[in-house]
Amino acid sequence: MGKIPQEIIDRILDKLDIVEVVSEYLPLKAAGRSFKACCPFHNEKTPSFVVSPDKQIFHCFGCNAGGNVIGFVMKHENLSFPEAIEMMAGRAGLEIPRTSGADDGTSSLVKQLYEANNTAAEYYQEKLGTPEAKGALDYLRQRGLNAETMKEFRIGYAPDGWENLQKYCKKKNISADILRKAGLSVKSDKGRNDYDRFRNRITFPIFNERGNIVAFGARIMTDSQPKYLNSPETTVYSKSGILYGLNFSKTAIREEGRVLIVEGYMDVIIPYQNDIRNVVATSGTALTARQVALLKKYTDTAVVVFDADQAGEAASLRGLDILIANGLTVYIAALPEGEDPDSFVRGCSGEAFRKVIGRAKDLFDYKLDLLLRKFSGSGIIERAKVVNEMLPTIVKVTNAVIQSAYLEKLASRLKLNEAALRKEMSKVKADYSFKYEEKTRVSSIPGNYRNSEIYLLGLAVLDKDMYDTMAGEMGLDMFIDETVKKVMFLLRDFYRSEKGPAAGKILSRLEDDENAKEAVLRGIAKADITGDKDKVLFDCIAHIRKENMEYELKNLTTKLKHAEAVRDQSAVNELLARINRLHKEKVT
Ligand SMILES: [Zn+2]
Repeated sequence: MGKIPQEIIDRILDKLDIVEVVSEYLPLKAAGRSFKACCPFHNEKTPSFVVSPDKQIFHCFGCNAGGNVIGFVMKHENLSFPEAIEMMAGRAGLEIPRTSGADDGTSSLVKQLYEANNTAAEYYQEKLGTPEAKGALDYLRQRGLNAETMKEFRIGYAPDGWENLQKYCKKKNISADILRKAGLSVKSDKGRNDYDRFRNRITFPIFNERGNIVAFGARIMTDSQPKYLNSPETTVYSKSGILYGLNFSKTAIREEGRVLIVEGYMDVIIPYQNDIRNVVATSGTALTARQVALLKKYTDTAVVVFDADQAGEAASLRGLDILIANGLTVYIAALPEGEDPDSFVRGCSGEAFRKVIGRAKDLFDYKLDLLLRKFSGSGIIERAKVVNEMLPTIVKVTNAVIQSAYLEKLASRLKLNEAALRKEMSKVKADYSFKYEEKTRVSSIPGNYRNSEIYLLGLAVLDKDMYDTMAGEMGLDMFIDETVKKVMFLLRDFYRSEKGPAAGKILSRLEDDENAKEAVLRGIAKADITGDKDKVLFDCIAHIRKENMEYELKNLTTKLKHAEAVRDQSAVNELLARINRLHKEKVT
C-alpha cells in the first residue's frame, strides 16, 4: 500500500465515533461530557482513561497515552498505522484507493522484508519435516520441545547447501535484492552468486511486538562455538529494540502484572510450553532503553531471572538500573548455579520454577544483602564501598517515597548517619542529572514560557474561534518552540477548509511525530480544565509577547555593548533606536 491520502483518513474519522469503538474494548462509564475507564495501557485501579466524544480523542492521565480512534486501535490491537487504517476503513465502509507509483519507499520496503522473512520461515518449517532434518528434529525433541510448541514459535530447519532458500524464494517472486536486505542471503565477493546465510541450522524466527518476523537466530546442533548465528541489523531489525517472545507473552504480562526477563530463546520457549507465559528474552545483551520502553507498555514490574553465578555479581545487577530509572519495580529470582530457566524447568518442573519466581527478592534488598556478604566486616572502608554501589541505584528510583525508604534502610543496615547519606546521594545525583534533566525541564513550571505556548496550542485545537483570535492577536511566528509552531501552521491549514473539531484530525496528521502528538494532547489536557478560557487566552498571548520582547531587548543590549566597545557609532545609533521602540511598545 502506498501513502494513504489524508482525505481518506479524515473520512474515516468523520464516520467512526471514538466512544462507540472504544466501548467495544472497554466498559466505559459516563462522566460529565466524557467517558471514563481503567486504562488498558497501564495498570491502575482508579480510572484515569478518558474518552471525549466532543473532541473525538482519548487520553490517559496516568500514562499519558492518547490519540484519536485510529491511534487507539493501533495501540490496542498492536497494529501499524496502515493496518489500522485498513481495518477502520473496512468498518466505516470506505475503500482505500490504491495509489500507483506513489509508494513511499520505506513502508513498502518494510512490507517486503516482512514478507521475505515470513516466506523463509515457511520454507524452514517445511524443511523440518523432511528426512534431512532428522538430526535437527531429534535435537529439538531431546531438548523437550513438543510439536505444538515448534509450530507456534515457527521453529524450522535451514538445510545444508548454498542456494536452497534463494531458489525457493525466486519461485515466490521475492527478489535477490530483498533477500539480501533481509539478511537472508549474503552477497559474495569476487562476482560469484549470493549464498544463503543460514545453512544446516535450526532456525528460530525473531518476531517484533506485533508478531512480524524481523530476523532469525539459527543454532547449530553440535556443541561447537559459536552456537548461534543471527540475522544482521536490517531496516526492520535492530537488536536493541527487540525483546524475544514479547509477541507471545504480552497478554500474559498484562494479565499477571509482571514480566519475567530471561536470556535466551529456549528460556522463553520451555517455560512457555509449561504454561509460564509472561516471559521475554534479552537475547544475551544488556537491557536497552528501547526494550524497557516496550515493556513499560504492559507492566511496571519486572522479575529478572539469573542463575546463582550472575546473581552473585554486582556488575550484572548494575545493568538493571535502567529498569529502575524508567520507573519499574525490579525483583531478582536466582536459580541454582549453572541452571537457566530452560534447563531448570526441564530438570525440575514448571511448578518449581514458579516457586523460585515467587521467592524473588526486591532488587534493593537483594543487592544490599549481596554487598554486605561480600564486604563483610564493619570497617568504615567496607561500608563506604557498599554505599558506593547502592547509591547509584537508589538515585534512579523515580518514586520519591520509595527512594527515601531505601535510603533510610541503607542507613540503618550500615549504621550510618542518614543525613550524610543524603548528602552523598546529591553528589551522585549531579552525575546523573544531565541525563535526566531534559525530562524534568519539560514538566512545565506554571507561568513558564513553554507552558503558555502549550496552553495556546490546546485552546487553538479545541476551538476555532480561539485560534482565530490568537492568530490575529499575535501571529504564528511568535511561537518559539519548533514543535508548537509546526502544529500551529498545520492547524492554520486545517481551519482554512474545516471548522472542527480539530483534535482527532490534527493528531492523524502527526502520525510520525511523537513529540508533536504529545504536545497536542498535553495542550488539550491543560486547556480543557481551564475555567475562564478567554482570560487564559489573553494572558498567554500577553505573556508570550512580553517574553519575546524581553528576549529581544536582551539580545539588542548585548549587541549594543559590542558596538560600543568597537566604537561603531552608526550601529550604536541604530540599536538604540530599536531598543527605544521596543520600550515604547512595552508600555502600550
Ligand atoms: Zn494509562
